[in-house]
Amino acid sequence: MLQYSFPYSTLINFIVFALLGLYALRYRKRPGGAYFVGMTLLLAFNAFASIMELMSAPFETKLFWRNLQQIPLLLSPIACLGLVLDLTGMKRTKRDTLLKLITIPAVVYLILIFTDSYHHLMRVNVTLEPFGQTERIRVQSTNLSIFFLVTARIIGLLTLAVMLLHLRKVSRFYRNQHLLVMVALLFPYVFTLLSYISDVQISVSLSTIPMGILLFYALFQYKLLRVRPLAKEKVFEVIQDGILVVDPHGLIADVNPAGLRIWRELAEGGLNRVHGEKLEESLSNYPELLSLYKLGEQAAIRLQIRQRHYSVSLLPITEEGISAGALLLFADITDRHHYESDLLKRATMDGLTQVYNRQHVMEMTEKALADMEPETASLALMLLDIDYFKSINDTYGHHVGDQVLEQFALVLKREAKDKGLVGRMGGEEFAVVLPGYEPESAYPVAENIRKAVEGQAIRPEGLLEPIRITVSIGIAGTKRASSTFKELYQQADEALYEAKKQGRNRTMGKEGLDEARG
Ligand code: GH3
Ligand code: MG
Ligand code: MG
Repeated sequence: MLQYSFPYSTLINFIVFALLGLYALRYRKRPGGAYFVGMTLLLAFNAFASIMELMSAPFETKLFWRNLQQIPLLLSPIACLGLVLDLTGMKRTKRDTLLKLITIPAVVYLILIFTDSYHHLMRVNVTLEPFGQTERIRVQSTNLSIFFLVTARIIGLLTLAVMLLHLRKVSRFYRNQHLLVMVALLFPYVFTLLSYISDVQISVSLSTIPMGILLFYALFQYKLLRVRPLAKEKVFEVIQDGILVVDPHGLIADVNPAGLRIWRELAEGGLNRVHGEKLEESLSNYPELLSLYKLGEQAAIRLQIRQRHYSVSLLPITEEGISAGALLLFADITDRHHYESDLLKRATMDGLTQVYNRQHVMEMTEKALADMEPETASLALMLLDIDYFKSINDTYGHHVGDQVLEQFALVLKREAKDKGLVGRMGGEEFAVVLPGYEPESAYPVAENIRKAVEGQAIRPEGLLEPIRITVSIGIAGTKRASSTFKELYQQADEALYEAKKQGRNRTMGKEGLDEARG
């Protein structure tokens, strides 16, 4: 043994096991994890108590620290057995019972040790012996005491046996990991053997450190290191999203199977090579995609490739602040796209006539008003109400009335095409919003509609004679962006009321348009 005044090797032992134990706390839920924490902290405590024994002066204090060392001495082999039983998959309840049973003699031993000064059942003689430049406790054990210490050894051997038996039937995936555990457990024995057969003297404290570290690695790192890259590779292979890996020079470095399919669609059969292709050249037909790539920071766009819709994300990869390339991620959102456009349609359209609903007309008008250039722009609103519609329902029934509404809406759409947007305000009342129109220029549009309606014979299903309808129209307009839909609607409604009052089948503006009608 080396001569020293301070037990540095024991200090190192303390530090290593304390750190291992504390660090392993994060893995305590893993198989063997909690026992590993317990075992390493016990060993750390053992080292600490050894140092205290050497460093303290009074005999009583030294003896106290020596006695404390017996706790880890007896309990750490039990923790180690627990670790192995847990790792090899013994059921928790069974394991707990077994460990509790084994702990009973250890506890008896500890009680006897701490009360030895009263009965001397454990120690024949307790003296001091020189150790380096200090002194340590030297005890002469009784046979009873030796019996207990031998049980601790037996537990150690039992642990090895359990591990060895388990290794024969462990699955291939865990074999190497469990072999490492076995090797770790053998370490202290190997050191002991070495010190017997050779002159190499290694301090007992240091000899347990490789075991602790190897055990830690085997339990918490080894399997992960093996499975993680494999798992990533697997995800890359099977994921439905297309992934293009681009290197820092803009060359395609890798592509997964889904990515390859999308790539072929992008290229429309023109690009056979993928690996090593320059992204910018290959995608010159897709400016949105290129500008996403050139942006160089995390972003996403929506892109349609033939019949499919994709959400394309750019994920830059950096390594210590330096660009290492990027990922282009193509997620197929075709279903979501259809679902969303269906929802949007339901939210903005009138179900019967397939023109915008009242709410959407209001919103679009407010938006058109807000976007209006001051002074130069204008907007006209037309309200249209079918004349004597109630009598159609009364004469032919509601279902015929519905068909009349549908056909009326078709006429409106046709006449207002490229001019403005058409909506149903409710019942048989419709609106046409004409951005950029003044009441005067909206008037001919309204008249065309009115005449078209008047001239169109509507032929509902199952009805022999055609139905003819007429419509009354009120027009309002504004040049002020500060106008509201409500104001315009009120004006148009008043004009409409006037048109009805004057005999229907006519177009009216709020001010002076009736004259313009000629
Ligand atoms: P006016 O010339 O004064 O406008 O007379 P009108 O009969 O057209 O007006 P009124 O407001 O009295 O009647 C409108 C009718 O429209 C009453 C209602 O039953 C009917 N109506 C409202 N919504 C629907 C619908 O979705 N389908 C059908 N078939 N009829 C509807
Ligand atoms: Mg009506
Ligand atoms: Mg009405």
